Amino acid sequence: MARSDKSSVFSILRNLNISGLLKLAQKVDLGKLISKVNKMSESDLKKMMKMMDGGSADREPPPVDGDFYDLSAKLTPEEREIQLKVRDFMETEVEPITNEYWQKAEFPLHIIPKMAALDVCGLTLEGYGCPGKSNVLQGFIAQEMARIDPSISTFFGVQSGLAMGAIYECGSEAQKQQWLPEMQKMNVLGAFGLTEPKVGSAVAGGLTTKAKRKGDTWVLNGQKKWIGNATFSDITIIWAEDVDSGDTKGFIVEKDNPGFKADKIEDKMALRTVQNALITLEDCEVKEENRLQEAHSFKDTSRILKLTRASVAWQAVGCARGAYENALAYCNDRKQFGKTIGSFQLVQDLLVEMLTNLTAMQSMVFRLSELQDEGNLTDERASLAKVVCTLKTRDIVSKARELLGGNGILLRYNVARFVADSEAIYSYEGTKQINSLIVGRAITGKSAFV
Ligand SMILES: Cc1cc2nc3c(=O)[nH]c(=O)nc-3n(C[C@H](O)[C@H](O)[C@H](O)COP(=O)(O)OP(=O)(O)OC[C@H]3O[C@@H](n4cnc5c(N)ncnc54)[C@H](O)[C@@H]3O)c2cc1C
Repeated sequence: MARSDKSSVFSILRNLNISGLLKLAQKVDLGKLISKVNKMSESDLKKMMKMMDGGSADREPPPVDGDFYDLSAKLTPEEREIQLKVRDFMETEVEPITNEYWQKAEFPLHIIPKMAALDVCGLTLEGYGCPGKSNVLQGFIAQEMARIDPSISTFFGVQSGLAMGAIYECGSEAQKQQWLPEMQKMNVLGAFGLTEPKVGSAVAGGLTTKAKRKGDTWVLNGQKKWIGNATFSDITIIWAEDVDSGDTKGFIVEKDNPGFKADKIEDKMALRTVQNALITLEDCEVKEENRLQEAHSFKDTSRILKLTRASVAWQAVGCARGAYENALAYCNDRKQFGKTIGSFQLVQDLLVEMLTNLTAMQSMVFRLSELQDEGNLTDERASLAKVVCTLKTRDIVSKARELLGGNGILLRYNVARFVADSEAIYSYEGTKQINSLIVGRAITGKSAFV
């Protein structure tokens, strides 16, 4: 035996785990095993070693990214820049304070100037200082906001979608000129008061808030419930029934208007950062010039809801994405039985199920917004996306919670809040049943509301 061979043999014997070898010999025929391994090609040997090392177990996990089909790549470079600007704002200005404000049930008013500087308010509206961008981009913005904090995306949706949308769709030219530029800059904050304590899903069937015209003035009486932002907004759009004609009309009511009172709804278990109000209108006098001049019936109110429902579907996607991404990061980090829990098959099954639904939802809302940009958004298309996305989001957030074990119920692990918030998104802008009835009516031609 050559000298070098001898030293190799000694080195092998020195490193040999004799007791391990003896144990192995009790289980398998060692001679046979060595002869089989000897006959293996070099590449098969490498594959086997990799498998025995646990495959990629020791490799750094890839970056967490909830946009699995790279839908962001469909944005133009300019749109992508806006999306990333919003992401940066949400991650640096909002994320660090989000649990604190949720817990306190207060709104962080101090973020509004920086949010306004993003120049995304009234994003899709044309003129009046608004950017006139695509609905697809608007969807991505809603997703970015909700991915970090669904309360902030809700606040923004009320301002940019419901309140500005009401004036844009139903206001006179003078009203648009008066309000929209300042609302776009977020110097004027708005709210949208449709739901009532006794009339929720049935708003299309008649409102109990009444408006009576007296000369140049309208007198409003009634109550509105759940009205987001209304505790601090400068104006609230109040929808009321004209006692003389029976038609639904919209009014721009200013916050210091005598007879207007907004009380914060306490003890919410979802979207706690959003300030929802119970509004009481007692002989609240509003000038005719503050009546939305192009709102003649509930059909006009519906036009606004159709537009904002699409954004709510995107918000649900963002909520699901935030929960998924946080859960995946947790699974890549948390160890049990000496391994990261993300390496367990049953955990991967849950993660993949979440990603499957998330990706399907993203693809759906992306197409929905394309349809909107093409001028082909219908009530039923918006409603279908709202139903599916809010339903699947509930499922995704609950799986995320499950994957965090006990930590899934602690706010600081950034999943519990998504679980709670998904409940509110599920119900507002039309419940599952109401949106399903809208789709059902469209596909069967028969209304089944009552
Ligand atoms: C956090 C939050 C924010 C909100 N923000 C606003 C806002 O800014 N402005 C605003 O105007 N409103 C707002 N809302 C109100 C919201 O739109 C309503 O809660 C929603 O429309 C449902 O009305 P409701 O809560 O009165 O439920 P209800 O109408 O009482 O419904 C109760 C249940 O009955 C079911 N149901 C009702 N009718 C039928 C039917 N015909 N067939 C089958 N099932 C039916 C519903 O689906 C639901 O499951 C908000 C709500 C929440 C929770």
